[in-house]
Amino acid sequence: MNATHEVTNQSTPFTDVNLFRANRPLRDALRVYAPGLDTARLDELGAEAGSTEMQAHARRANAHPPVLHTHDRHGRRIDEVEFHPSYHALLASALRHGLHGTPWSRGPGAHVERAAAFMLFTEAEPSVLCPVSMSYAVTPALRANPALHKAWGGKLAGTAYDERLVPFEQKTAVTMGMGMTEKQGGSDVRANTTHAEPDGRDDWGPRYEVTGHKWFFSAPMCDAFLVLAQTASGPSCLFMPRFLPDGRLNAIAVQRLKHKLGNHANASSEVEFHGATAWLVGEEGRGIPQILAMGALTRLDCALGTAGLMRHALSLALHHTTQRHAFGRPLIAQPLMQNVLADLALESEAATALALRLAVAVDRTDHAPDEHEAVMRRLLTPVAKFWICKRGSHFAQEAMECLGGNGYVEAGGEGVMARIYREMPVNSIWEGAGNIMAIDLLRALRGTDVLPALERELAPARGAHAAYDRAATVVLQTVDQGVHEAQARTLARDLALVLQAAQLHRLAPPLVFETFCASRLAATPDVFGLLPAGTDLEALVERALPIDTRQEKA
Ligand SMILES: Cc1cc2nc3c(=O)[nH]c(=O)nc-3n(C[C@H](O)[C@H](O)[C@H](O)COP(=O)(O)OP(=O)(O)OC[C@H]3O[C@@H](n4cnc5c(N)ncnc54)[C@H](O)[C@@H]3O)c2cc1C
Repeated sequence: MNATHEVTNQSTPFTDVNLFRANRPLRDALRVYAPGLDTARLDELGAEAGSTEMQAHARRANAHPPVLHTHDRHGRRIDEVEFHPSYHALLASALRHGLHGTPWSRGPGAHVERAAAFMLFTEAEPSVLCPVSMSYAVTPALRANPALHKAWGGKLAGTAYDERLVPFEQKTAVTMGMGMTEKQGGSDVRANTTHAEPDGRDDWGPRYEVTGHKWFFSAPMCDAFLVLAQTASGPSCLFMPRFLPDGRLNAIAVQRLKHKLGNHANASSEVEFHGATAWLVGEEGRGIPQILAMGALTRLDCALGTAGLMRHALSLALHHTTQRHAFGRPLIAQPLMQNVLADLALESEAATALALRLAVAVDRTDHAPDEHEAVMRRLLTPVAKFWICKRGSHFAQEAMECLGGNGYVEAGGEGVMARIYREMPVNSIWEGAGNIMAIDLLRALRGTDVLPALERELAPARGAHAAYDRAATVVLQTVDQGVHEAQARTLARDLALVLQAAQLHRLAPPLVFETFCASRLAATPDVFGLLPAGTDLEALVERALPIDTRQEKA
């Protein structure tokens, strides 16, 4: 009754699109990286992740963040976190699609399929992927205690999500988290003060009583955690379940939930251990490398998750600019907007390619020894986590700008772009912030087998572009000579760019590879939208358009 006008020139919601079919760069990459893969499961997930229903769950789970109940009304400690039903619906979907522990019991290709699925699910809602990622990553570390692995491993791959806070024997599937970061140090975990005293041994091996705190302890409703604590031999990795074998709650007191910039649907807590019971995983005193077997895989997921968020932001930008008109034509037809969109598309495809390449290395080294892939896995982990996550926030800001003012507005959670923007920085900070990744790269480069492996990885694209040849030569020389720690970020960036170019040469049409080289290797990546004159912007944009192939056929 009060309207003075009709609403025109506003874009429609980006919904009910099969996100797998709509993602041509991802499908092309899988054809090369996993040629025999049956993509039926990804197709099913793509439809579900892009559905109106899942988007409604994502909005509700973020609009109604988790609530901590430390005590029941009679004063007994319960330490229970209550989530909105939509959070459980999202987590149930992620487990149903096997994004957690399932690849460890499947054959070759399972980690690559899971990596693609992880990226697709990120486009539905990233924050539930925190416990999912930790549950994926824990298996290799847990194998160091065969009794625990035997008891828990099967349920870590269980696909029927069970939200109840009950002992693990009663559950159809379990999730696991990790506790490293303390108030006085997150990167420098050697400074941990939480300590563990021997408390006998049982079927699960040496048992300890743990006293101390963790300053960041995400997804505290997980069924168990790997935690780092000081024993007489130094930092040790311990398995700490929520319930003790006799059915009592373990002494894990959840103090408070963090009020975070983003990642609202997920609970991140602060906890105190008041003589909590835990079992040794691996060797006493060797806890840091032991828990980092888990950390290395969550770092993979930081890269995959950011690539997924980039793709989502890009799709929203492309969808909006196709529908929105300004100065007489759709925004997507404006030359300078085409330059921005094409540049974002390149970045998104390069992030997807590099993150997937790392997943390939994980896959190939999981099933059989493979020297080259083992070196690439070690090297690509810090490189991909550093560079892709660093580019994430910058990317989201530019994609947001494509939507103009609407991009900045959340409107009760309907404005997905603002949520993506708030989510981006977490992947860069947690599991080792940027400097820590760059320094870890220097550690990874110490091996004598690194240079030949890198040469081999970069060889196939030699001769395809002058800027590539120059960049590959310079980066190999730098790796050979070594750099001062203060230059570690420069080297991490340069390696990431040349490795991204090498992957694009394998996976994408020549236009993508050549434009990437011209804009990232011949020039320094800066603000988006600086692609050189003469670039076929329309073709780059066309490749990225999130058009569901069913719609194409119709
Ligand atoms: C949402 C969220 C969830 C999290 N969940 C968990 C969880 O479940 N479990 C868990 O254990 N942790 C968790 N974390 C913690 C996270 O892993 C740490 O915040 C991170 O590792 C950084 O540690 P810090 O916060 O203590 O920062 P610091 O270690 O104090 O680092 C601060 C800055 O200094 C830099 N820096 C540190 N050392 C050096 C150096 N030698 N040279 C140069 N620069 C350096 C770092 O790169 C960083 O930029 C979570 C964090 C967030 C934000």
